[in-house]
Amino acid sequence: MPRPFDLLFTDLDGTLLEERTYSFEAARPALRHLQTLRIPIIFCTSKTISETVAIQERLGLEDPFIVENGGAVYFRPGQLTEAPLPIQRSGAWHRLSLGYSYSRLVSNLLKIQAQLGCRLLGFSDMNATEISQACGLSVEEALRAKDRQYDEPFIVENETPELMDALERVASDHGLRVTRGGRFHHLTGPNDKGQAVGLVLGAYARSLHGTRCVALGDSPNDLSMLLAADLPVVVQRPDGSWDPRLLDRLPEAIKAEGIGPVGWNQAVLTLLGEGG
Ligand SMILES: [Mg+2]
Repeated sequence: MPRPFDLLFTDLDGTLLEERTYSFEAARPALRHLQTLRIPIIFCTSKTISETVAIQERLGLEDPFIVENGGAVYFRPGQLTEAPLPIQRSGAWHRLSLGYSYSRLVSNLLKIQAQLGCRLLGFSDMNATEISQACGLSVEEALRAKDRQYDEPFIVENETPELMDALERVASDHGLRVTRGGRFHHLTGPNDKGQAVGLVLGAYARSLHGTRCVALGDSPNDLSMLLAADLPVVVQRPDGSWDPRLLDRLPEAIKAEGIGPVGWNQAVLTLLGEGG
């Protein structure tokens, strides 16, 4: 049976994973169907490698994945053989690094804070217990979340739209980007999810004939990934809305009916011709 698409990219928090419980159970039927059809399920997340691998293991997945908002693409030896150089070895993994070092991001966050005279609370300022409370994670999971390489999540004290505009401008002066995820803002290098998706797509396109890809996301930090996809899907936020900043830029996007993994399941089954 011909596959309706060749690759699937997905955000995790608030998209495949329920925002508060981090459960993917509602998406099990569609995940099983994709696995039967051998369609790669490529996570594209702001999470770290250790968090992402833990979720891959729970799902029995071994596909390439993108971490820390496009900071790096990880894959196993023998995968993405057409990926561009330079490929680094990182333990059992091959890695394409796209982001700036974590120490550079943390020192720049301090500079930006001083320039703006505001308080920016980053993961580097928080211990595992504080992160676990802020994110609803266990302390063990929070330690995995804190193990960062390419992306600094942060909160802005007394946030206003004007302050966020100024923050983005100052970050840009430093050659950095600020994006919005479900819970935090994220400071990164000039990389984004879309750039990393483009690299993975390019590597598959050289080995497959014509790749057609789906991407699913819920927040502004997913925009570049969704723009890179043939079939972008926006899932509903916990309040039942679709992020207006995504819909503005993606008028043709599929609006998944259902919050997080519920919408994910429904949209993917429909695209596979199994929904209804
Ligand atoms: Mg998300």
